[in-house]
Amino acid sequence: MILVGLTGGIGSGKSTVSSLLEGKGAVIIDADAIVREVQLPGSPVLSELAAKFGPEVLASDGSLDRQAVANIVFTDPDALKSLNAIVHPAVGKEMNRRLIEQRTTDHVVILDIPLLTENPREGLQGKIVVDVPVEVQVERLVRFRGFDEADARARMSRQATREQRLATADFVIDNSGGLPELEPQIEKLWLWLRSLPQLPSDYEPITPTPNGGPKVPPTDS
Ligand code: ATP
Repeated sequence: MILVGLTGGIGSGKSTVSSLLEGKGAVIIDADAIVREVQLPGSPVLSELAAKFGPEVLASDGSLDRQAVANIVFTDPDALKSLNAIVHPAVGKEMNRRLIEQRTTDHVVILDIPLLTENPREGLQGKIVVDVPVEVQVERLVRFRGFDEADARARMSRQATREQRLATADFVIDNSGGLPELEPQIEKLWLWLRSLPQLPSDYEPITPTPNGGPKVPPTDS
């Protein structure tokens, strides 16, 4: 297994780049998707969240009302710590389970972690940063995601800056252009990924430290 992280600001194009890499044969482990999965109705995480924050965090269909959780933790750092203490161990465990499943293969495994710069993870062979200028990011969030501009900017202000993210990059994908401009960069990225050494087949994934996860709530974006 070759193991690399992929990150970028909200709406920068992480999922777009991930699916292009998946098309090349990479295995994508998507942290946001795992967060949603471990919080599904019937999960121990959802029960714990309801016990901690009250029934108001449950929607009428029994699923997690992520906006209600976000509203609680936005102004309450202790509540955010409690949220992280409930969610992160389950996410870390599932992520590691998937890594262990891959460690005897020769696959390129991409950990798509939106807040990798804010919360560095050890044991990666490199970090890919999907980079876009702030104004392109805002424009795409407004145009394709239905954000209002102030909300897009507020969310971005709670994340690492573009410069902080770039400072951690081993490979930068410039996603300021259109999709055709991405293709040649993905070709180069794939060559770079395939050139990295295979990890040993008994590779042990790190166990993330408690509260070492996202410093902002894991809301849908
Ligand atoms: P999030 O932070 O919400 O998970 P993301 O970083 O995964 O977002 P994407 O979902 O890949 O970002 O992209 C955000 C939006 O911008 C999507 O609607 C996507 O189709 C569009 N998009 C991504 N890259 C480009 C591009 N090069 N040209 C035009 N639109 C793009």
